[in-house]
Amino acid sequence: MPHPLVTVDPVAHGVVLDLVYATPQNITGKPIYARPICLMHRDAQKCLHQAALAAIALGLRLKIFDAFRPHEAQVLLWDAAPDKAYVADPAIGSNHTRGVAVDLTLMDARGLELDMGTAFDDMTALSHHFSDKVSPEAQANRMHLLMLMEDAGFEHIPHEWWHYALPGADHYPLVPSTHLGHLNPMLPL
Ligand SMILES: [Zn+2]
Repeated sequence: MPHPLVTVDPVAHGVVLDLVYATPQNITGKPIYARPICLMHRDAQKCLHQAALAAIALGLRLKIFDAFRPHEAQVLLWDAAPDKAYVADPAIGSNHTRGVAVDLTLMDARGLELDMGTAFDDMTALSHHFSDKVSPEAQANRMHLLMLMEDAGFEHIPHEWWHYALPGADHYPLVPSTHLGHLNPMLPL
């Protein structure tokens, strides 16, 4: 079936992939994806590439934790989430399942993650943008990521420093897993 997703390639897109849902290091405690495949809607992928180039020009790198997320993965995350305010109800659908949302951070030239004040998927008030409960350095790093991503066409959401999506995300249809074929990260080859 046709779908609007393209593969995000670390070299072509100038990003680093650290797809945490393909590892046990996520809130479910076990891999959700069988393979570390990073997919995005072609519109979002263009903006991501623009943000990646802007980061590289500053001696930084974008490091991606997750992008397109199949519905079945959203169900697993919803079931595991300690606070449902931080996960989209799979009955409604996540912007990740539309292919237009991405979770990411910044790395420095040595390949170290910048201090963002919390880990990815920290589902507490500390992960909120503009929180003054994290260090000034972490606030500045979050602002740096925000400027790079918004300049490239993404929008932030208030309660997750790592999450960005295209404006009008809910106008993009949810991408059914049955349309993915061999690209479905939840299916082993
Ligand atoms: Zn997200």
